[in-house]
Amino acid sequence: MIDTRSQIASHFPTVPLIEGATPIRRLSRLESLCGADRQNIAIYVKRDDLGEIGGGGNKLRKLELLLGKALADGADTVITIGGIQSNHARLTAAACARHGLACELMLADMVPRHDVAYRNNGNVMLDDLFGAKVHRLAPNVDALAAAQDRAVALREQGRRAMVVPSGGSSPLGALGYVRCALEVIEQEAILGTTFERVVVPNGSSGTQAGLVAGFHLAGRGAQTVNAYSVLADRDVTHARTVQLAGETLALLGHSASALSADDVVIDGAHRGEAYGIPTQGMLDAVRLLARSEGLLLDPVYSGKAFAGLLADIRAGAVPAGTSVLYVMTGGTPGLFAYREAFAG
Ligand SMILES: *Cc1c(COP(=O)(O)O)cnc(C)c1O
Repeated sequence: MIDTRSQIASHFPTVPLIEGATPIRRLSRLESLCGADRQNIAIYVKRDDLGEIGGGGNKLRKLELLLGKALADGADTVITIGGIQSNHARLTAAACARHGLACELMLADMVPRHDVAYRNNGNVMLDDLFGAKVHRLAPNVDALAAAQDRAVALREQGRRAMVVPSGGSSPLGALGYVRCALEVIEQEAILGTTFERVVVPNGSSGTQAGLVAGFHLAGRGAQTVNAYSVLADRDVTHARTVQLAGETLALLGHSASALSADDVVIDGAHRGEAYGIPTQGMLDAVRLLARSEGLLLDPVYSGKAFAGLLADIRAGAVPAGTSVLYVMTGGTPGLFAYREAFAG
């Protein structure tokens, strides 16, 4: 059984995409502006948005393992899928550039936004800069099937292509967030703080599933992790996250059934109408964090999750005295794609 960061590193090949532990810092000005200080709630952020390449973001932790496997298996090309403004696609393109792999992206129209900024700026502009080949899929095309077909076609030309699933959220990708949970626990000892609540957005579920598995392994209680779903509805997201967390534990030689459905805590009330559609709470949260702390959330994931955290603090749903760790997952380029949403 594999339980520690060094055991993970020796069992699974990785490529380095993040230098050392990402910093954790306290948001004192935000605490007083949102009323957390009066409830003795401390809010810290973990800067997983500060990756060393590609503009940073949570997908780098998953790609450390996914590209590690691609290189170990002798692949020369990585194909992945996402929406037009996929942060995962952009970071896959950057990480492939860094490690000398060709990258192809199958991008689907997942969000009904048709303005020039959404279609051509932000992440999709960077995909091109990082040298990825971008395929814009017609509506109703199954992106994963298109990626697999493309891999077959490339193999016929003698190339060795590997397909990475949406968001990098396979059990192997989720191991990146098992490592993050163990990193947080090491940082707690240095900071002299225990985080009773670790907050993240949940899109394709690998981030939460990995953290849940990691806190469980460390004997800290998987319920430490609280997510806000932003993509599928709450129940679909919950079932997928329970499944993926179990598969991630199994990959480490642990029993998947050690986790129960109650161990996975997800709130679906802050997604709004659908994935990628702005909410007032998101706009307010992005502005509040920018103006109080000089930090950038994103419009699709972290803005909605942070809006959920702020709403819960204001509603008294976070117990007094809690130390909260909000994991900043990146996505800054998405702000430029949502210029019109912020113009009002
Ligand atoms: C992908 C993404 C998430 C969600 O992570 P999952 O592992 O897909 O649940 C959160 N924030 C940002 C900025 C992302 O790009």
